[in-house]
Amino acid sequence: MEAREQLIHLVKIQDLARTMRANNAVIEHAPARIDEIEGRFRDRNTEYVAVKDRFDELEADVKTRNLELETLMASRKKYSEDLMQVQNQREYSAILKEIDEVKAKINEHEEVVLSSMEEIETLKEEIASMGAHISVERKKVAEETGEVEAAVKKAEAEVARCTQEREQLEADLPANLVGILRRVESQRQGTFLVEVVDGTCQACYVRVRPQVYQEIKAASKLHACGSCRRYLFHAPSIRPALEESAPAADLSTSTVEAMNDPQV
Ligand SMILES: [Zn+2]
Repeated sequence: MEAREQLIHLVKIQDLARTMRANNAVIEHAPARIDEIEGRFRDRNTEYVAVKDRFDELEADVKTRNLELETLMASRKKYSEDLMQVQNQREYSAILKEIDEVKAKINEHEEVVLSSMEEIETLKEEIASMGAHISVERKKVAEETGEVEAAVKKAEAEVARCTQEREQLEADLPANLVGILRRVESQRQGTFLVEVVDGTCQACYVRVRPQVYQEIKAASKLHACGSCRRYLFHAPSIRPALEESAPAADLSTSTVEAMNDPQV
């Protein structure tokens, strides 16, 4: 295989590696994304449960107080009747004191019940609107989680495709070249191939010798950058051959274009 052919293979492999990395990131970040979506829902739910608890607490308290009020009213009635039967001033004063105490308790209960009823009405409205909101939110959580899961599925398919295509491309290359590119790839943040522009490596910005630059432009020999060790290619010399060998649609995020934003 000629150097030009090999370089075209390297560009394609680098593109596949980049696509694979982006898709692996989607897969990796999915659990955190789902946690975040569910966490947001839990927060809303907590708020709802707190309001509902307060509502239940008030209702139970009002019920207890109303029962006590019935007893107190009965006592007051009984004391009023007793008052008619008293024999002396001492008994009269004692019953009046009881009546005053019962009245005070009745007043206290009635005041609390009144303010609780007002709060209950407010909470009822809140619960109704939150309840509606929660069912909308629950649906949204299911949708968003579904979107993340669909994205993971798509990313997994992409990773599988890239892996297979890369294997096929690597099978065409000499084993020692594959070994070197994998080593450089793991040592250089996944980039083993980089464009040369005006005689300068676009990853580390070190100049290559003029003779070497000529050979890279001619694609007559494989060269690695003397500084960062990445393989070098001259995009204008490779692009026509690359476009000829691959459908244009696959080049949207290609190494040729991505070199404008090199990862060093
Ligand atoms: Zn370099």
